[in-house]
Parts: sequence; C-alpha cells; structure tokens
Amino acid sequence: MPDVINHYIGGKVVAGKSGRLGDIYNPATGEVIRKVAYASVEELRAAVAAAKAAFPAWAETPPLRRARVMFRLKSLIEQNMDRLARIITEEHGKTVEDAKGSITRGLEVVEFACGIPHALKGEYTESVGTAIDSYSMRQPLGVVAGITPFNFPAMIPLWMAPMAIACGNTFVLKPSEKDPSFSLELANLFKEAGLPDGVFNVVQGDKVAVNAILDDPDIMAVSFVGATTTAEYVYQTGARHNKRVQAFGGAKNHMVIMPDADLNQASDALLGAAYGSAGERCMAISVAVAIGDKVADEIIHNLAPRVRALKVGPGTDPEVEMGPLVTRDHYNKVMGLIETGVKEGAHLALDGRGLKLQGYEKGFFMGGSIFDRVTTDMEIYKQEIFGPVLSVVRAKDYAEAAKMINEHEYGNGTAIFTRDGDAARHFANSIKVGMVGVNVPIPVPVAYHSFGGWKRSVFGDQHMYGMEGVRFYTKLKTITARWPTGIRSGADFNIPTLG
Ligand code: NAD
Repeated sequence: MPDVINHYIGGKVVAGKSGRLGDIYNPATGEVIRKVAYASVEELRAAVAAAKAAFPAWAETPPLRRARVMFRLKSLIEQNMDRLARIITEEHGKTVEDAKGSITRGLEVVEFACGIPHALKGEYTESVGTAIDSYSMRQPLGVVAGITPFNFPAMIPLWMAPMAIACGNTFVLKPSEKDPSFSLELANLFKEAGLPDGVFNVVQGDKVAVNAILDDPDIMAVSFVGATTTAEYVYQTGARHNKRVQAFGGAKNHMVIMPDADLNQASDALLGAAYGSAGERCMAISVAVAIGDKVADEIIHNLAPRVRALKVGPGTDPEVEMGPLVTRDHYNKVMGLIETGVKEGAHLALDGRGLKLQGYEKGFFMGGSIFDRVTTDMEIYKQEIFGPVLSVVRAKDYAEAAKMINEHEYGNGTAIFTRDGDAARHFANSIKVGMVGVNVPIPVPVAYHSFGGWKRSVFGDQHMYGMEGVRFYTKLKTITARWPTGIRSGADFNIPTLG
C-alpha cells in the first residue's frame, strides 16, 4: 500500500496538494500505518470537472454496455476478494471473514446493476388520444456524489456507485477518512473493468470536502451514510442548494423476544447481531426487549458466558470472533457510555472493559458488555453506542415493547423472535421502523429490495439500491407524441384534453 492514500480523478491517482493529511490507524496495533490526503475545495472541484466532462458520453452509452462494465467489475471483485478483505481488516479492525461478507453484500448491488437495462425500461401507452402515444423514460441526473462512513468501507460505496453509474451518471466518492484505501482499489477495478476515465472519481478528506460537495452547483444529487447529526446537516445543506439528497443516519435497533420464542435460537441471534463487527453496524441489535422477567433472566443466563468467552483479537486471526473498535476516540466514547450506564443505575451484568491482549496492548480492544434493567429514560437507551454493548430492557408485554420501539427517535431496523404468527404479523405491519426481521436479527434487504430506515435514521425519501436506487439516480421524462402529425390542425387555446 502507498504511504499516502490520495485522490483519484479523471482515471488517475492524483497526489493531494492541500498540505492537510490525516492518520490511518491499524486498530489492532493502535499504530498509524499510513496517511490520507485531505482534499481542498479546489481538489473537489477538479474531481467534479472530470466527472462533468465524462458525463455526456457516459449518459449516451447504451445501458447494456454500462451493464457489461458491471459484469466485469463483479468478476474482478470476486477475484480480488481476499486481498480486499484484508485491506478492510487492516484499517477497520473487523475480521477478514466479516469483511468478505460485507464485500459480498456490496457485490449483490453490482449484480443488480448488471440488470440495469431492464430496470431502466420506461412505460408506454398506445393511444392516449387519437393517434397519440405516451411514453416515459428515466434519464441520468449528471454528476452525483457519495459520502460514506467508516463502518462499511466497501459495502456502502458499492451500494451507491454501481447503481448511480449504471443509471448513466458520473460519480464522486468521498469515503471515510478512517479507512479510505478500499476506495482506490475500487477505482482501479472499475478502470480494469473498462469504465471510461472520469466516470468514477474519489476525493479523500474530511468536512472540507463534504462542504465543497454540498456547495457545488455541478453536483446534482448526494447519497450520504453516517451519524444522524451529520446526515441531518448533509440533507439540509444539500437540499438548500437544490440537490436531491438521501442521507442515512444512526440507529438503535431493538429485538423483541417473546415468551414463546426458541430462546436458544434467540440467544445465538443476539450474540452475532450485537457483537459482530464489535457492534459497529448500523443494523446491529443494541437493545434486547425481553417480554417478562423469565425471558430476560434466561437470555442473560444463556448469553453472558458466551459473550465472556468471545475470542477477541486482531481480525486477521482466523479464530477471532470480534476485532477492535475503529479508533482510540471511538473506544473512549464507548467506554464513557458504559460509565454513564453504570451511573444511571443500569445493572452491568457483564463488564467488557479492562480487556488486555498480550502483544496488542495499544490496540483498541474491548470485551462484550451486557447491561440489564435498562429503562427508556437512560442515555444508554436513547443514544447509539456503536460498540459491543447490549442493553436488555424488561417489558411486561408485547404492547409495551412495541410502544417503546415506536417512540424511539431512530427507526432503522428491528426484529421479533416468536413462534406466534399473530404477534409477528402485527409487529411487521404496524411497527414504525423501516426494516423488520421476523426471527431474523439483521434484516438488511437483498439488492433487489431496498435499504432504508424511518424517523431520524433517514433524511430524504428514497431508500438505497434496488428500484428505489434507480429512482433516486434518475429523473423521469414523459413524452406525448402524435403520429401522423397532420391529423389535427388549428390552434387550440384551451388546455389540451386527449381522447
Ligand atoms: P460520520 O457521520 O462521522 O462520518 C460519515 C461521513 O461524513 C464521513 O465521510 C465523514 O468524513 C463525514 N463527516 C463527519 N463529520 C462531518 C461534519 N461535521 N461535516 C461534514 N462531514 C462530516 O459517521 P461514521 O462515524 O463514519 O459512521 C458511523 C455512523 O454511521 C453510525 O451512526 C452508524 O449508525 C451510521 N451508519 C448508518 C447506516 C445506515 O444505513 N443508516 C449505515 C452505516 C452506518
């Protein structure tokens, strides 16, 4: 890997000139492994200029040819899977297997983009009036941008760029500054797949680059994923500059465990969904809502020894189940929230602080924690912790559980574990959350459905990928045509009515 991760503009790596650099850590060792260039406004402008220049030819490229680039990209990513996963592990910390899984979930969207000719087919009505036909088409927007978070450095860029590009747009990606290396790998693979220069560009950096994107008059649309405060800011600022914006924010995902659930199955599900990727997933389960004390006691009894026994260590070790947190700052934030929970009076049934790993003393490692008897007025219930910390809330019945989920400010994902079809159906149909699992803890939709939360987990109204993605990255045009032209003549000063 290069010492400095730079920008990728117009088909070439371009060295950053702003003089501002950020540190990239290996979270397992706690050491700075390389730097990342932070873009200036001018550097962002250069990427937008390259994307703008590439747009007309790319927009005119038949969708079938655009799709062929996606077919080749899919195969190249598969061939490079192991190497790409290791790059993610090195900078993010998650295990290599988990990194591969996340690339695979991104690849699903590349596969969907391979079918873009079908998705872009418009509608046609013969004879909306005498000798008049009407048809609609979806056309690309122009230059669009994606701003992505640290927790999925491959999957989330792959949710955005292939969809936008297959729809005929050109793209500027601003990846997270914490783990930016995958973005340049993706740029190289796009090029190898035959994507013309300028169609996919990468600008590294921080909020300077983000603000430049939001200000730029040549950027038509922005897709954002990150924390809710940033998402709200990006949505409002982008919309003020007349851009189409979809901004996905934070989450607090509840899993309801009904008394009739298979509690072993529910405990297994909780273990993976709460502690996988050290809880740094926007769809992680962070609250288990146990219906009744008996369920709560049994879940904690099942779970605590297994969480204590989790093999924590560097993500490159194939035996490891949970890697480190992404940065020292984030580690300190999670430690602070555990302290807050203790002060608020939640019962810390398992304390993951104080974990020390021989040979990795400077790594950002933390064991899994479980809070019991968490109540809805506590900060640890209200805030997204984004770490390996599960809160157990005891509810007396299903209605109380549903009410607390509906009243939470976030509405990304949720799940119910039960054998009761009535309860499951009621939950699925009435809960105020965007993605719902029934005996499925992390219900991230497949690529031909669409991803998106509700409430303060999302700003903007189109979800990500699938047909919602096609709608987000295209604008609709409807044509009404009369052939032969001579059928009707003479001026008509009334609003045209057909038929
Ligand atoms: P973040 O908001 O700190 O950063 C996201 C992006 O915004 C990065 O590219 C970053 O450089 C930029 N950014 C950060 N602060 C900014 C500011 N003040 N002004 C302008 N730009 C800024 O988020 P993160 O810590 O990288 O990611 C974790 C968050 O992302 C969690 O809250 C998680 O729930 C959320 N997330 C949500 C989803 C979803 O689909 N809803 C998916 C993954 C992650």
